[in-house]
Amino acid sequence: MQALRPVHVVGGGLAGCEAAWQLARRGIPVALHEMRPLRSTAAHKTHKLAELVCSNSFRSDDAEGSAVGLLHEEMRRLGSLVMRAADVHKLPAGGALAVDREGFAAAITAALEAEPHIDIRREEILAPPEDWDNVIIATGPLTSPALADAIAALTGEAALAFFDAIAPIVHRDSIDFGIAWFQSRYDKAGPAGSGADYVNCPLTRVQYEAFVDALLAGEKIAFHDFEGTPYFDGCLPIEVMAERGCETLRHGPMKPFGLTDPRSPETKPYAVVQLRQDNKLGTLFNMVGFQTKLKHGEQVRIFRAIPGLERAEFARLGGLHRNTFLNSPKLLDATLRLKAMPRLRFAGQITGCEGYVESAAIGLLAGCFAAAERLKEPPRLPPSTTAHGALLGHITGGHIETIDAGPRSFQPMNVNFGLFPPLGGAARDRKKQALCARALTELDSWLAAAIPHAAE
Ligand SMILES: Cc1cc2nc3c(=O)[nH]c(=O)nc-3n(C[C@H](O)[C@H](O)[C@H](O)COP(=O)(O)OP(=O)(O)OC[C@H]3O[C@@H](n4cnc5c(N)ncnc54)[C@H](O)[C@@H]3O)c2cc1C
Repeated sequence: MQALRPVHVVGGGLAGCEAAWQLARRGIPVALHEMRPLRSTAAHKTHKLAELVCSNSFRSDDAEGSAVGLLHEEMRRLGSLVMRAADVHKLPAGGALAVDREGFAAAITAALEAEPHIDIRREEILAPPEDWDNVIIATGPLTSPALADAIAALTGEAALAFFDAIAPIVHRDSIDFGIAWFQSRYDKAGPAGSGADYVNCPLTRVQYEAFVDALLAGEKIAFHDFEGTPYFDGCLPIEVMAERGCETLRHGPMKPFGLTDPRSPETKPYAVVQLRQDNKLGTLFNMVGFQTKLKHGEQVRIFRAIPGLERAEFARLGGLHRNTFLNSPKLLDATLRLKAMPRLRFAGQITGCEGYVESAAIGLLAGCFAAAERLKEPPRLPPSTTAHGALLGHITGGHIETIDAGPRSFQPMNVNFGLFPPLGGAARDRKKQALCARALTELDSWLAAAIPHAAE
């Protein structure tokens, strides 16, 4: 039999290591290109593969009630190297899975170095050479500038973001529709709307002024040195807008014009917070224009003071960071390949997921898809009801474009239950458990039928 050509994996972080492992487990030669230690990033400190750049936590390990805990369990069942190393090097951390970062990265490095199918090459890739026919780019949020330029040239400058400007996202079923109502400004339908596309939360003058005071007083997160202060038009943090004057927000994202509360049409709200549908399922709504550097606890406290959001549950809180990520729903196909150049596949945070575990999970899937392609087998997608399927769906198509102008709407996201197809019938207090149980059952069926090698 003719020897298989290698799959090239660029970036030996969480995603690249997991992708390389999945390929090697299927007998496929891999060239894993990692630029450290020849060139480092602003956050990495060592030469080890799969270095954790900040916290040492993989977050909740509860596979029966937490979306990330479910993702852990699915990855274990899919033969993840990252989860195997995390389980071996775990530290006491209550319900969370925290790891000894040194031991974790050393274990991954040793496993990949010992794997005969993997050739680790310490070099920076400036652009993927043309004769590489099956490539996974997993260079993360701090992709080296030369490669980022090459990707921007392939995809278009506007399709590759260098900062995320994240507005909080709220679970629709936690909004109080006794106060909030659906309406688009001036009932405009727009290209894809109905005229009633936004959730509107009204504030009186007293409530608005208290809200602005709370924004100004709230504790903020400082930027890392390497991030600079990345404010740009259309993406100012809400608290920076508030600093410009008490009325600024009321003439910006909180303007009340063209909106009428159907329950009290005579009383015009003084200000309105709008939320816009964020995913095709209609389970998540983002707070329009509310990108923020407030600390997470402060966001929950301050945003729950908005009428209608008193019991809001947040699928994601706001932020503004240095990041490098693609407008994946537009650019990537269902198996993470660049539509315009299918020999290039992307994995990890550069695809628009967020977090160590999510990045590794997307690396795992990219490795499986690249392996199928190399073996000339049809790729198999995980069921959308699994955490892997839900996350992949967010990246490759579950997110919807905004219906109006403004900053790009696709932003990185952690795995969360709002990305899962809803369950009919489950009692609200058992919903998470029911979603987890459904996911694991369907994963097992899919696994048995779809990836015979993965459970090795
Ligand atoms: C400052 C900071 C703090 C973070 N804190 C957390 C946290 O606490 N918890 C959390 O869950 N997530 C955190 N994240 C997000 C975190 O980066 C990702 O979750 C995760 O590391 C991304 O995995 P990845 O494999 O996509 O990228 P990475 O793990 O960053 O791996 C990318 C690899 O590609 C290499 N590389 C880059 N360019 C090239 C090139 N041209 N050629 C060859 N190699 C290249 C890099 O050296 C790196 O090893 C943080 C991110 C940043 C930037």
